[in-house]
Amino acid sequence: MIRLQNVAKRYAKSGEVLAHIDMQLDQGEMCFLTGPSGAGKSTLLKLIALIDSPTRGNIYFNQRKVTNLSRKKIPHFRKQMGLVFQDHRLLNDRNVFENVALPLRITGHSPRDIPRRVRAALDKVNLLKKEKAEPISLSGGEQQRVGIARAIVHKPRLLLADEPTGNLDPELSIEIMNLFLEFGRVGVTVLVASHDMQLISRLQQRIVHLQNGHIQESNLVSDEI
Ligand code: ADP
Repeated sequence: MIRLQNVAKRYAKSGEVLAHIDMQLDQGEMCFLTGPSGAGKSTLLKLIALIDSPTRGNIYFNQRKVTNLSRKKIPHFRKQMGLVFQDHRLLNDRNVFENVALPLRITGHSPRDIPRRVRAALDKVNLLKKEKAEPISLSGGEQQRVGIARAIVHKPRLLLADEPTGNLDPELSIEIMNLFLEFGRVGVTVLVASHDMQLISRLQQRIVHLQNGHIQESNLVSDEI
């Protein structure tokens, strides 16, 4: 589904952050991206999410080359992706329902269809009862679950998460990672960046490790925790 071919990224100020990245993610595959802080995990996710472009190499989305796409063509691919961030970036002046509905409203979804979609997404993260709550009144774990509901409300085929448990304690982190495993089981391709090796090694999934701009892989197949 996603293929990176000899991808490199150089920033004027930071030099070459990624070098010769070759990587493939198949439809429905679950993968963790690890590496120390500053290894280039966020940069790699930004390239896949078409937020930034590589300095060298190519990225393919379902066999279509998406490197250096024109701005007009990017939304078509973005619609197939969901993004989750460490700080979840919820709007505090809107309730949970409206936060989750936002991507549907932005893409001009039929208003009649929105409540059903939003509630289906909230149900998946076990927050149906909180749709009227203000984000600020929720716990850190609940806020992150709202962020995940917002990322999956449009049923993306690819879910990208950047340090989604960075602000959570170990118990809540496992809960959030289990949610990602569940999306993987129903055919969504999931790529989660995290520096928390201890947590990730417990999940027994494919791990792509970034170090000095290069990747090392290890494959573990069982998804029991
Ligand atoms: P990680 O997510 O693994 O912590 P990042 O991808 O955020 O790593 O950053 C990798 C390196 O790239 C860091 O040295 C960072 O300072 C640099 N970097 C990231 N984004 C930019 C940017 N927009 N401009 C310049 N340097 C950047």
